[in-house]
Amino acid sequence: MSAPGNERRAVVVEDDEDVRSLIEFTLTSQGFEVRSVDTGLAGVEAVGTFDPDLVTLDLGLPGIDGIETCRRIRETSDVYIVMITARDEEIDRLIGLETGADDFLSKPFSPRELQARVNALFRRPRRTTASSEAEATSAAPPALSNEVLDHGPLKVDVDGRRAFKGGTELSLTRTEFDLLTELMRTPARVWTREALLRSVWGTDWATDTHLVEVHVGNLRRKLGDASSLVHTVRGVGYRMEAR
Ligand code: CA
Repeated sequence: MSAPGNERRAVVVEDDEDVRSLIEFTLTSQGFEVRSVDTGLAGVEAVGTFDPDLVTLDLGLPGIDGIETCRRIRETSDVYIVMITARDEEIDRLIGLETGADDFLSKPFSPRELQARVNALFRRPRRTTASSEAEATSAAPPALSNEVLDHGPLKVDVDGRRAFKGGTELSLTRTEFDLLTELMRTPARVWTREALLRSVWGTDWATDTHLVEVHVGNLRRKLGDASSLVHTVRGVGYRMEAR
């Protein structure tokens, strides 16, 4: 599953000791080296010093809350962020996604649910060559292939995980980048929200199509005047304008 010799690190931001222990236990058993903190400010600092691959971020925290913490982490990092929310925090959860969280999980959750979300995130293509080596059995030469997608003013360097508009690099989260790549690979294809959930998040959590809507909205904002290339197909989903 994970590439051998590729140590993964996680920062857990959670003020509830029981939940924190559960997350620590779950991630440790998935092979993560875990650093735990109980405030948002400590979380921002830990992301800076520990350089994690994953952050789990409680929404309700003392001091700055999970939303502000997420915003500050996103100023410097495109680390995967899973927001942990209580059931009565749905509106806050949406704001959390708008500030750049990649996925969310509602309390109470089981270790299995957390593992499934984390596995789905890490199945996505990564910049590291280690994951290419793991796929070296395929016919394509690993690490040498360099898929570049062009569409109007937009350009995506898939393997380098960089996106440009009119020659200027866009600052996208991993999730926004993956969404844009999927859409640009298949211009004119109509994507249902469920299909994008499966393809980008690796899941078909039926009720979570909000994830897609919020992240497409974030992506569009960052695309600015090129956002019109991403069409909403009313009642269905999205498609990239045909070339
Ligand atoms: Ca809390």
